[in-house]
Amino acid sequence: AHNERESLYIVLNFAKEFFVKNLQTEEGKSIGLSYFKERGFSPSIIEKFDLGYSLDAWDKLLIAAEAAGHSKELLIKAGLILQKEGDASRFYDRFRGRVTFTIHNLGGKAIGFGARILTNDKKQPKYINSPETEVYHKSDILYGIFQAKKSIREQDNCYLVEGYTDVISLHLAGIENVVASSGTSLTENQIKLIKRFTDNITVLYDGDAAGIKASLRGIDMILEGGLNVKAVVFPDGEDPDSYARKVGSSAFQQYLREKAVDFISFQIGLYAEEAAKDPIKYADLVKQVVQSLSKIPDPIIRSVFIKKSSSLLEMDEDILMTELNKILLKSQ
Ligand code: ATP
Ligand code: MN
Ligand code: MN
Ligand code: MN
Repeated sequence: AHNERESLYIVLNFAKEFFVKNLQTEEGKSIGLSYFKERGFSPSIIEKFDLGYSLDAWDKLLIAAEAAGHSKELLIKAGLILQKEGDASRFYDRFRGRVTFTIHNLGGKAIGFGARILTNDKKQPKYINSPETEVYHKSDILYGIFQAKKSIREQDNCYLVEGYTDVISLHLAGIENVVASSGTSLTENQIKLIKRFTDNITVLYDGDAAGIKASLRGIDMILEGGLNVKAVVFPDGEDPDSYARKVGSSAFQQYLREKAVDFISFQIGLYAEEAAKDPIKYADLVKQVVQSLSKIPDPIIRSVFIKKSSSLLEMDEDILMTELNKILLKSQ
């Protein structure tokens, strides 16, 4: 007999194959496949990422899975079906009428799904994701890591994006060393996962207020994890997916090469304009950079970046050191 984790992997693989096959049904072709085509996703990328479609009905997956011998109990544990509120004898599929993004673990097994609506119906959540299960811990996994790990090692760098479609668009643009935090804030375990393959992360979050805020927090987390970090800012309202499609693969690759800057220049770039007008804002910028410097565990790397901050911010190194030591003492 299989143990419970094994059974979960089996039923999740069944669901993955079911969603993938649905793309070839009449409904799947006219709704799901045409959506992917519109976004420029090729048949080979659809296959590479196990993209699929969940039929627009209450319990198509449930019926197929039960017919294949999987119990309701297991389908619930896998996060694939839900119990109807007020009528505990009724069950329905979690993912319905959406395109599906299979979330793989490091070994390539399906452990969960993200699913996107096809309309711009603002009353529904744009994405629905699998809940936490025994095999899916969202704070421990990164979307795309299975497809990226070889390239991350080869390139000795990992691009970090927000969303599923950013990962896929980067692959289409010829960049395979990319993973997504899937809209949640980056965790220590996710950084450790990347550190198994490289010490270098380049953050490519969305060019909006939320993306910039998440970048700043992510950068400090990455520094704290002892990795090197760079970041790229996208024009307002663009994310890596939209921008890659807008400018094309080679211009996009060039943009990444030219615009990837270290965390100091990233923060200066964000705040230089207002800091130039207002000394207090300037002081805030300096303090924020020092805060980031304080996260760097390696004393030599820290010292190198203190020097660089001093020159870029035109601030005396001693003053930066004094402020830094205050923070370090406090955190002890
Ligand atoms: P698209 O290009 O399809 O609109 P996106 O990836 O650009 O998608 P964002 O709004 O930037 O979407 O969100 C980034 C990521 O955050 C998504 O890929 C998804 O993983 C997650 N996310 C977004 N909206 C939700 C939601 N309503 N519920 C859960 N997760 C979400
Ligand atoms: Mn976003
Ligand atoms: Mn986005
Ligand atoms: Mn997008």
